[in-house]
Amino acid sequence: MGAVSRRSTVNLKAARERLVEELRREISDERVLRVMAKIPREAFVPRASRHLAYEDRPLPIGAGQTISQPFIIALMTQALELVGTEKVLELGTGSGYQAAILAELARQVITTERIPKLTQSAKRTLEKLGYTNIQVYLAEKTLGWQAEAPYDAIMVTAAAPRVPLELLDQLTVGGRMVIPVGSRWEQDLLYVLRQKEGFTAKNLTPCRFVPLIGEGAWSEE
Ligand code: SAH
Repeated sequence: MGAVSRRSTVNLKAARERLVEELRREISDERVLRVMAKIPREAFVPRASRHLAYEDRPLPIGAGQTISQPFIIALMTQALELVGTEKVLELGTGSGYQAAILAELARQVITTERIPKLTQSAKRTLEKLGYTNIQVYLAEKTLGWQAEAPYDAIMVTAAAPRVPLELLDQLTVGGRMVIPVGSRWEQDLLYVLRQKEGFTAKNLTPCRFVPLIGEGAWSEE
């Protein structure tokens, strides 16, 4: 390793630790913080923006999509209260970073992505990092992934116009979902819990995500 790349590796590690300390002010789940201190976010962003990997903001990952802001990622992950036994569904693989976080905290992760190029690159990154409990699928017409349902937890990392019934159906009793719901430009991050009978929901925070596209969500344009 040359002097320059060794220096940048050290800088990134220090930046990662600083970011986690910042997150600690608002995120209390130590397991979530530990995992974010471990996973190299720089491996999930384009080479040209590696130096920005530990800024607390979303970054472009190509195809008009973004890797989400670390704070929102931490908040969504914490809300799912994973203990390690769960089967989790993620919608919107994107870079694969959120899937890696979930895979460290749950038993199995199924993640779907509608853009083939992103599916491929996320798969490659996750394989390189050695994850064996993540399955990445190219999204089908129906939201989610019926073939593996039900899920103990569902995380939707793109914004929906309403809570999709198709996804509620894919939750176990006691299963929880986090999903941004609102307009194409701004949303509320909702937490939905499936109970024996019916569902309860609460609003976690205002947020801004790229649109969830498909039947039961937004149309392409
Ligand atoms: N979780 C990602 C960020 C994803 S951005 C990460 O950690 O990097 C949201 C992603 O959702 C985009 O890549 C977009 O293509 C994808 N998406 C949009 N509609 C979708 C759908 N119906 N099913 C699966 N993925 C979808």
